[in-house]
Amino acid sequence: MSTSTLFIDGSWQPAASGAEFETTDPATGQPHARCADAGPLDVDNAVAAARAALTDPAWAGLVPAERARMLWRVGDLIDEHAEELAQLETLDQGQPIGISRMVSVRAAAEHFRYYAGWVTKLYGETAPVSFPNVLQYTKREPVGVCALITPWNFPLMIASWKIAPALTCGNTVVVKPAEQTPMTTVRLVELCRRAGVPAGVVNLLTGGPEAGRALVEHPGVDKVSFTGSTETGRAIVQVSAGNLKRVSLELGGKAPSIVLPDADLDAAVAGCLQGSLLNSGQVCAAYTRFLVHRSLADEFAERCAKGAAQMRLGPGNAPETELGPLVTADHLAHVDALVRSGLQEGANLVTGGSPAADLPGYFYQPTVFSGVLDDMRIAREEIFGPVLAVMPYDEEDEAVARANDTEYGLAAAVWTRDVSAAHRVAGAVRAGTVFVNMPNPVDASAPWGGYGASGWGREMGSGAIELYTEVKSVWTSLG
Ligand code: NAD
Repeated sequence: MSTSTLFIDGSWQPAASGAEFETTDPATGQPHARCADAGPLDVDNAVAAARAALTDPAWAGLVPAERARMLWRVGDLIDEHAEELAQLETLDQGQPIGISRMVSVRAAAEHFRYYAGWVTKLYGETAPVSFPNVLQYTKREPVGVCALITPWNFPLMIASWKIAPALTCGNTVVVKPAEQTPMTTVRLVELCRRAGVPAGVVNLLTGGPEAGRALVEHPGVDKVSFTGSTETGRAIVQVSAGNLKRVSLELGGKAPSIVLPDADLDAAVAGCLQGSLLNSGQVCAAYTRFLVHRSLADEFAERCAKGAAQMRLGPGNAPETELGPLVTADHLAHVDALVRSGLQEGANLVTGGSPAADLPGYFYQPTVFSGVLDDMRIAREEIFGPVLAVMPYDEEDEAVARANDTEYGLAAAVWTRDVSAAHRVAGAVRAGTVFVNMPNPVDASAPWGGYGASGWGREMGSGAIELYTEVKSVWTSLG
């Protein structure tokens, strides 16, 4: 079994208490690594190291072109270690190896290169202030010490969404990956160091919610960037209020996918299956509520069920696997409890509906319900598993109103051949991202984030630059 330690101020070290925890292979249920379990003293030390590094000339003194090259090198090192990282992500998280390679690892490398490009473009502005003989300009400065807390569904990719722009803007960071899936973040931090990122700039605390809470509470932290559940996001907002930390949140979702009566049904079925079952549905933007025009709803549900039932479940490292396991036994129980609630509340089960008992580990059969009503739990709560709920509608306005009848607003989809309808619906749906006639990818250049209970702020693109900088306005009398 491999072991990993904390990384504080450029040195790998066990937790001050000596505590450790295990991380498990979801395809077998067997532990495969032991990790240091950070406690309050480790949090203090990591925050102190990050604070000292903020003004250390080895970091603060780098000219933008040097910082840009460093970030680019991280991207290249990710590429050089792509296969190793992909295998590790699959072992720790369970995702099919093709997803690890083509989504997780590739996006992580691209993120570092994308933000390497921004380092030399962090411009200020001059404002035409209405005072004679005064020059005013703005500059972007780092926010300071950033606590970066990530979830278990795409650990390497989401750590990169945060570390890359935070470093681009000259911040220092303490990253805390999810306790279920820390291993690729450990490796990423090592690659940052190998790329020449100075000691103290990137610190790593492996550990659970307690370590996360201590970090969020810490008065030495200036900003929290969190991706995870809405419930934890709410707790973070309260706990971080002490020193009024900047907080950005990427939280849960319950994405509607609206199929209009003129949709290309083949494309809609294929795209909806992909958009709902990627990583076994453990995707914040996963399509989960399928609002399908009544004229198509039965056929749509049948065809989705057929497609889902044909997908090959298996361990992520088997090349033929299309659907991997869920991340933990607890999460499997959560998904199953919601499926049971769907049955009890009277939804029609078209396929699936139970764990895959013939496989070890935490596998769940892809599940399709039809005739789902808006107030059923499977229509309202985030399942974060391979469960599709088909809900017929009659009028476009009704579909939009029902799509918007949720506390979430992360992503949505619309399927139609009518360009006017596509943009009408895209405009009316309250979601941070709307996909028209396609599944739900992310890209470093396109803003990502949610309305309502799906979060605060936008990552990616220029949005992340806003999140990781303070704007300073300088006024000068010209005499
Ligand atoms: P979670 O909220 O349970 O945990 C996320 C992280 O927060 C972990 O590192 C955990 O240790 C830490 N944590 C837990 N309690 C904490 C506390 N009180 N203070 C500080 N840190 C704490 O979420 P999860 O179960 O790991 O992830 C799944 C959730 O993440 C889903 O709701 C999903 O929608 C969401 N998610 C959102 C996006 C997005 O971009 N919007 C992306 C991926 C996942």
